[in-house]
Amino acid sequence: MSNIDVIEKFLRYVKIDTQSDDTTGTSPSTMKQHDLARLLEAELKEIGASDVFYDQEHCYVYASIPSNCDDSEAPALGFIAHMDTSDEVSGKDVNPRIVEKYDGEDIKLSSDGEFILSPKDFPELKNHIGEDLIVTDGSTLLGADDKAGVAEIMTMAHTLLSNPDIKHGDIKIAFTPDEEIGEGTAFFDLKRFGAKFAYTVDGGKLGELEYENFNAAEGIIEVKGRSVHPGDAKMRMINASLICYEFHALLPVFQNPMYTEKREGFFHLTEVKGSTDSAKASYIIRDHDKDLFEQKKNLFAEAADFLNKKYGVGTVTVTLRDQYLNMVEKILPHMHLVDNAKKAMTDLGITPIDNPIRGGTDGAALSYMGLPCPNLCTGGYNYHGRYEYASVQEMRKVVDLLLKIVDIYKQKDF
Ligand SMILES: [Zn+2]
Repeated sequence: MSNIDVIEKFLRYVKIDTQSDDTTGTSPSTMKQHDLARLLEAELKEIGASDVFYDQEHCYVYASIPSNCDDSEAPALGFIAHMDTSDEVSGKDVNPRIVEKYDGEDIKLSSDGEFILSPKDFPELKNHIGEDLIVTDGSTLLGADDKAGVAEIMTMAHTLLSNPDIKHGDIKIAFTPDEEIGEGTAFFDLKRFGAKFAYTVDGGKLGELEYENFNAAEGIIEVKGRSVHPGDAKMRMINASLICYEFHALLPVFQNPMYTEKREGFFHLTEVKGSTDSAKASYIIRDHDKDLFEQKKNLFAEAADFLNKKYGVGTVTVTLRDQYLNMVEKILPHMHLVDNAKKAMTDLGITPIDNPIRGGTDGAALSYMGLPCPNLCTGGYNYHGRYEYASVQEMRKVVDLLLKIVDIYKQKDF
């Protein structure tokens, strides 16, 4: 199998600029994502995948590898990765470099020494001593998020198709655009995809397995004030900006992203704008727990009610909108997805890490669309920035992990 190398594929994919852009309003958000889609379509055909379909309108690529087991009961199992990269740092002219047998010291990314990948800033680098690390030249992100996932799925597919002696059930593959701007599943064709269960391969550290994410809502308050010349404002002025402060002060101080971790939820003030006459504050509300999530939304609305009692009806208007929900409810009836991934990891000497996501994933949206879909690790780190890196050895392990999961699912009907 030595001719099938995940790293060779990865280095090819990261050189294609696929940055998405949440300001264009189109699907896909940027046309350059088609460049990678076209390449993947060609490669899938070349390695002999079946049902290769490139949705040229919305930039999705689908393929399948039919079961080669006789009378297999196995469910059709899917693997999904996204093609786009974050809009925070450029993904153009990515110039990856492999640091062989990392020695635990600083890695100079740019030749002028301006950008240094240092264990002082990123202590987990010390876990990779002796490994080969793929890094940037400091001018771009790397794109391991999620081209590591793309390369690992392609390598798994290539391996299965080149080795018919490896038995497997029906395998489904999809590559999506615009995950980074929250639009990755907007035009996902579940029927064409055809999987009963799937995994996104879009996590980080080797061993991470994610099947819980936040419940998420957006909360906006708008305050109507009364502007009067401050010279004769006594008992007449209502300062909208101050009511905004007052609103915020009614929320629990420590339920704030600055003070929370793991499964602790929060209210996060993302933007505030105001004058005496009017003010507006935008929040995001997050909690893994459904009840605590509802409580947070209620508290948010009650804080506004209180201020309306104090200052008069209509002073504060609240708008609450759910954004996405915790996938765990959709995964719990299919815990074999978690158990089998953990078993595959343990069999390969990888320690599974249960990691509740403090955000959302495409897998959450897919789970609610009817495709239960936990997230697997990729071996990439420091996403969305120039300090992004990936471990060669971990990426190869992830390919083994995908093949192991395929093996576990090959016979039984789950
Ligand atoms: Zn990603």
